[in-house]
Amino acid sequence: MNCWPLFLICLITLSSLPTHAGVRAGAAEQEITPKTGLEIQHYFRKSIGVRDPLFVRCLYLEDASGNAVAIVGLDLIMASFETCDELRAEIREKCGVQHTLLNFSHTHASAALGPRGRSTVSNDEDSRWNDRTLDSIIAVVAAARKQAEPVSLRAGRADVQVGFNRRLVNTGNGHIFMGVNRKGPTVPWVNVLVADSLRTSKTIAVLFEHAAHPVIAPHTSKLTSADFPGAAGKRIREVLGNDVITVFGQGCGGNINGFPLRSTHERADEAGRRLGEASLKAIESSKRITARTLSIKSTTVTLPSASLPGRELLAEMMDLEKNNAKRMKQLRQIEKLIKQGEQPPGRRFDAHAVMLGSEWCLTAMPHEMFCQYELWIDKHAPFRNTMTFAFTNGYEGYVAVDEALALGARGGYEAGRLPNWGGQVYTRHLGPPAVGVEKIVKAALSSLWPSLSDSEKSN
Ligand SMILES: [Zn+2]
Repeated sequence: MNCWPLFLICLITLSSLPTHAGVRAGAAEQEITPKTGLEIQHYFRKSIGVRDPLFVRCLYLEDASGNAVAIVGLDLIMASFETCDELRAEIREKCGVQHTLLNFSHTHASAALGPRGRSTVSNDEDSRWNDRTLDSIIAVVAAARKQAEPVSLRAGRADVQVGFNRRLVNTGNGHIFMGVNRKGPTVPWVNVLVADSLRTSKTIAVLFEHAAHPVIAPHTSKLTSADFPGAAGKRIREVLGNDVITVFGQGCGGNINGFPLRSTHERADEAGRRLGEASLKAIESSKRITARTLSIKSTTVTLPSASLPGRELLAEMMDLEKNNAKRMKQLRQIEKLIKQGEQPPGRRFDAHAVMLGSEWCLTAMPHEMFCQYELWIDKHAPFRNTMTFAFTNGYEGYVAVDEALALGARGGYEAGRLPNWGGQVYTRHLGPPAVGVEKIVKAALSSLWPSLSDSEKSN
């Protein structure tokens, strides 16, 4: 038998197979709501039921050269670097995905995620939930990867604001206090990335990002809730269909509170519905991304902590606080460091960028970043569309901008330092980051993007 014709037939058949040199995407989700009786935060309370369920959701993207990223949205408050490092390593090992972005929506009616076998709260039930949740995240990444198919991507933005800047100045003493600052900076929009199947033309997933603390659900309610991000995803699905996976990413909402603060679940639903409507508008007006390759970059720097108080101030404070055990514990640590001639440890800062040519960039970072960072990225990142995540792959408190850090003791909850007891004095950093971190953050972020001039990098 002459095998030439068969060979030719094979060749023709092979070359006519649909090959796809562009981006492939897959998406999946699983419910991770802790059951009744488990600890929820923040503030800490025991859950007595479920107002709305919590989910892990993943949008997986890959290109023909094997560049791939799993973008994971979690309806959880936070996780440490240790937890995120271990989980990302496990995902690498079990799912073969090199890059994972774990974004925490920061809902204050959920739970924190801890490392395997060592949940953040030390009772067995919570610990079992914790480990099951880690398994769910891995399973969701694996499922999203398995389902990956050729897609067309589009990106868009629409105006919306579900919160306000939460830092106000007391004009009497110049101290910052928490309230509703309608004139303060915010990120007044939602960014979306949409993946449409090339096979069916249907939308597979919507990644949407907005910057605000999910703190509209009341802390007095003992029901778990995804707060406004959950309600927003629900609204998008009501219109686009329930098989569309909606992945929420929390932006630089460190100094923005959802409004109205700690009011009702219904108000959280309303705010979420508005965010969902705006996302639908952004989807409708979104522009197609033609880039066929993904570029994924990361870098790590250290953000130095503010220097410790002088010996004199410390002595005064130790005298004043001698009956307050919690404060004395921190003051003794400071005393120890001063004696050793050391400074408190800095904060780890990992910056990540997922880029599609010059058309789209997702810039992601850890911590509760002030919104001014997202506004700066939007102004300077050399891409047609940007999306920004904070609360990603690790957490060590707030990172304010220099202007706020320079207020020293008057800097308020997120940026203040001794002799005032802001939130960050109770961390291992014994205070906020140092003035000057803004430049370090901006340099780290812009080092990931193509060709930005030196003057643009520092402005
Ligand atoms: Zn927060």
